[in-house]
Amino acid sequence: EIDPLNTVAIEVVAAGDARIVPLAPGLPDSWFENDGQLTKAEMRALTLAALSPKAGELLWDIGAGAGSVGIEWCLRHPRNCCIGIEEREERAERARRNAAELGAMALDIRLGRAPEALGGLPAPDAVFIGGGASEPGVFDAAWAALKSGGRLVINAITLETETLLGTLHARYGGAMRRLALSRLERVGSMHGWRGAMPVTQWVVIK
Ligand code: SAH
Repeated sequence: EIDPLNTVAIEVVAAGDARIVPLAPGLPDSWFENDGQLTKAEMRALTLAALSPKAGELLWDIGAGAGSVGIEWCLRHPRNCCIGIEEREERAERARRNAAELGAMALDIRLGRAPEALGGLPAPDAVFIGGGASEPGVFDAAWAALKSGGRLVINAITLETETLLGTLHARYGGAMRRLALSRLERVGSMHGWRGAMPVTQWVVIK
């Protein structure tokens, strides 16, 4: 059963239980088992575009949650594609299940807390910080490890993290944007726009 409010111009083609995964990012949220902590499809598509994957590159997905960003990265270049760091065990396991379900076999989800868990990992070509950005040392460790020419993207929904992004932007430059998403939902017999929390996104190239 497909929820039309939860798809982004994607037709899910059902042949038995098979699903055909589209080539563009922004898979329906319903494809990822989650507990509500999920980068929503539209935000995910814009985040993947900002991360700008190239063949053979490695992503660090810090605060992997349900794994959706790392999974979408890996679906488009399957070798050594992404290391995801998640501090909560049930979420790390869920991310692994989602990766297996969607065929992102090379996604390496590690249970641990950033920045400590970042030590000793292979240097990334791109870093996404979807959780933990406001914790001391997380940005510094990611930035230090990022290869020259690599991209770093942070999504913030809290004022505290947004304030940090303002400081980082003043120091490192890059681009900031604010993304506000509303989806049409049913209100009784009619419809109305349900807004998601606005996301402030900072994108910087090293
Ligand atoms: N992008 C994810 C959702 C991220 S929600 C998706 O689409 O599935 C943010 C996640 O960051 C949460 O699961 C939280 O447990 C995790 N997190 C927060 N701080 C962290 C830290 N310091 N180290 C590792 N994970 C962290």
